[in-house]
Amino acid sequence: MSDILSSEAKAFLSQPLQLFINGGWQASKNGGNTDVINPSNGQTVAKVASGDEADVNVAVEVADLAFQEWSKRTPESRAAMLNKLANALEDKIDVLAQLEALDVGKAYVNAKGFDIPFGIDCVRYYADLATQAEYEKPLHLQDIDARVHRVPYGVCGFIFPWNFPFDLLMWNVMPALAAGNTVVIKPAELTPLTTLYFCKIAEEVGIPAGVINVVVGAGRKVGTPLVQHPKIRRISFTGSSGVGKQIAAMCGERPIPCKLELGGKGAAVVFEDADLDKAATQLAGAITLNTGQVCCTATRWLIHESIYDQFVEKVTATLKATKIGPGLDPDTQMGPLVSQAQQDTVLQYLDKGLSEGAEAILNGGALSISGSEGGFYVSPYLLGGSADNICFREEIFGPAAYLVKFKTETEALELVNSLDYGLANSVFSEDLTRCQRVAEKMIAGNSWINAHNVFAYGLPYGGINKSGVGGGVNCPETFYDYLRDLTIARPLG
Ligand code: NAD
Repeated sequence: MSDILSSEAKAFLSQPLQLFINGGWQASKNGGNTDVINPSNGQTVAKVASGDEADVNVAVEVADLAFQEWSKRTPESRAAMLNKLANALEDKIDVLAQLEALDVGKAYVNAKGFDIPFGIDCVRYYADLATQAEYEKPLHLQDIDARVHRVPYGVCGFIFPWNFPFDLLMWNVMPALAAGNTVVIKPAELTPLTTLYFCKIAEEVGIPAGVINVVVGAGRKVGTPLVQHPKIRRISFTGSSGVGKQIAAMCGERPIPCKLELGGKGAAVVFEDADLDKAATQLAGAITLNTGQVCCTATRWLIHESIYDQFVEKVTATLKATKIGPGLDPDTQMGPLVSQAQQDTVLQYLDKGLSEGAEAILNGGALSISGSEGGFYVSPYLLGGSADNICFREEIFGPAAYLVKFKTETEALELVNSLDYGLANSVFSEDLTRCQRVAEKMIAGNSWINAHNVFAYGLPYGGINKSGVGGGVNCPETFYDYLRDLTIARPLG
């Protein structure tokens, strides 16, 4: 384990990590544990209890009891508690960043500079919104005295993937808590560390027992019973489109509301008048940030034929200069993939893309890093050719992109909109009128101009089609998603 780890992070990892239920730590009822692997060297860094339906049942019951008190607090009281939590998390940014880098393999500098502080901002954002929200909405109707009375749902369930454990936890759970719901969370089995450390902080600041509960475990053993539990009132699922469909079907049976944030295959359109240095930096960054394991990132690069060679020269130079290494090394710009399985998937796509006739623009592949030999490293690769290639159509989730040349705006838009995914796309041009026009015609939840991966609180983020449904995150609407409307009406006269 790297020396950069603080004594606090080491102490946290040295104990058996358990499930967090009813404000305390519990072994799983079946006694099971799983190893948490450091993707940077393939070594085990911690053992974590691995639960099943029996633990889910207890967690939902205590969350239901806790709801009685938490939901009755004033919004100001909940906001004060969440602001206290934000302050305590801020004191531990470095520990959280170390644990995130260790767990996911992501570059520590990014975790410390972006993921963790940005996630903490989310706590404050929803704490503020809770104090400003409209819980009673008068309706001005003829002959009826009426209002909408907004109340929290009850126990909400959350299922998360492994790529941004801390930010996704904050983006999804904070609006629910601020609105007065209680939560049962299933983190990805590969990356539970910052979620559990967050519980330790929540316990220390005195978030009441049962308001936040975490059950670690496999999808079918923990995720499915969580979705199917009769006392779960809402589900938020972030993960692959395939599993998302199954979750939606389960929610549909009861039915309960379901927020799905799913996979993507984002496009970037680079026009002939684009600032090519900026476009190359942004797009190289898009596939190296978190080693390309970013749902909304740009992996289909549509480049105007007149600047294709120039762009390729710039972007390959940037990618070749990217420093690849262990997540915890402060000099690392791109870490390993999260697991052996993910490394295999990314390398298989390279083989399949080439066998379907793609041109290798930048040769990448498995990489061994001296001193970190067991890590799951892959250097970036760029393929190019026709748009019927598997690497243009399917989500790879690694440091890879597929380039296609285009001649006209219409042709570029057809290529962007040729897949069922609809998460995020971008357009690069110095002609802002053209950018706005193209941005409006790209079919997705998010269109970005002269940048890719643009996030802020107040900027709604979500997908459509195979990329999600249910309102997205990071905006006031997300807060209202966690309040149900009750219409109260009295005829006059
Ligand atoms: P995944 O769908 O395999 O797993 C996500 C979570 O679902 C995990 O916690 C897993 O244990 C659980 N799960 C799996 N099967 C289940 C089942 N049958 N019932 C209940 N729970 C089950 O996804 P992943 O591989 O962990 O993450 C990568 C995917 O997540 C990519 O497709 C990526 O695009 C997507 N993602 C989307 C967003 C977004 O905001 N749209 C953000 C991050 C990741």
